[in-house]
Amino acid sequence: MATGTWQEVAIDEIVRRTPRVVSVFLRLRLPASLAGQHLDLRLTAPDGYQAQRSYSIASAPGAARVELMVERLDDGEVSPWFHDVAEAGDTLEARGPIGGHFVWQPVDGGPLLLVGGGSGVVPLLAMLRLRHAAGHGVPTLLLYSARRHEELICAEELAVMAQADPSLRLVFVTTREPRRRPGDFDRRLDDALLREALADWSHAPASAFVCGATPFVEVIASGLRAAGLDAATIRTERYGGT
Ligand SMILES: Cc1cc2nc3c(=O)[nH]c(=O)nc-3n(C[C@H](O)[C@H](O)[C@H](O)COP(=O)(O)OP(=O)(O)OC[C@H]3O[C@@H](n4cnc5c(N)ncnc54)[C@H](O)[C@@H]3O)c2cc1C
Repeated sequence: MATGTWQEVAIDEIVRRTPRVVSVFLRLRLPASLAGQHLDLRLTAPDGYQAQRSYSIASAPGAARVELMVERLDDGEVSPWFHDVAEAGDTLEARGPIGGHFVWQPVDGGPLLLVGGGSGVVPLLAMLRLRHAAGHGVPTLLLYSARRHEELICAEELAVMAQADPSLRLVFVTTREPRRRPGDFDRRLDDALLREALADWSHAPASAFVCGATPFVEVIASGLRAAGLDAATIRTERYGGT
């Protein structure tokens, strides 16, 4: 698929991940994608009305199917369609992969700091899946915040990855439920928590990737600068929202 061209693609499968997030598998192979990139999707109603949104790619580059993960926003125009209406075989238009800044490849090395809020974990998951498949032992810390445990996307997959790999540290941050594992946190991810988690990790990140709703990304990026990270090492992806 050429990056800038719209192409009709079919939904291969929809899989529930959490109460508010589904994975949408597309019958599409993107051999040239980089972990962290996104696709633009365009939906067209029978009356010709079109809506276009961006979704990060969750699957590692080269995967046989492209996996996207869509969080339901109750008052949203597009995301509820994936939850309530879409089914395998439906078609839509896609364009991409897009994005050259918020990407990580094994040659980029680390230490690597990944901070995700809610569905903002999706491009970080692509990076972790790539890192895992490449057997890459670059020191990596994932700080992943959600309201409740059941809302952590792919928590089991992440835990299995971290169990098999001492260079990967996984820290879940739940804001509305008590933590379940030592080393996790159960409060808001703020400057103090960032400092604590970084001190505990004891690596100086060469790159930090921060993704989530816009207010989350802004708090984390400013917290990382306050914790002493050079602004040039911090890359952000804002999903919107106020
Ligand atoms: C590069 C990029 C990658 C993205 N990747 C993903 C992804 O992997 N998974 C995913 O679920 N979404 C992702 N998004 C967000 C996605 O593009 C849509 O904005 C989102 O699905 C909402 O669309 P909607 O039509 O349902 O809501 P809209 O009708 O656009 O908005 C409904 C209401 O929700 C607010 N809103 C919009 N986005 C957010 C948000 N992120 N958080 C809180 N409130 C919001 C709006 O201000 C509005 O009030 C990404 C956005 C960008 C820019």
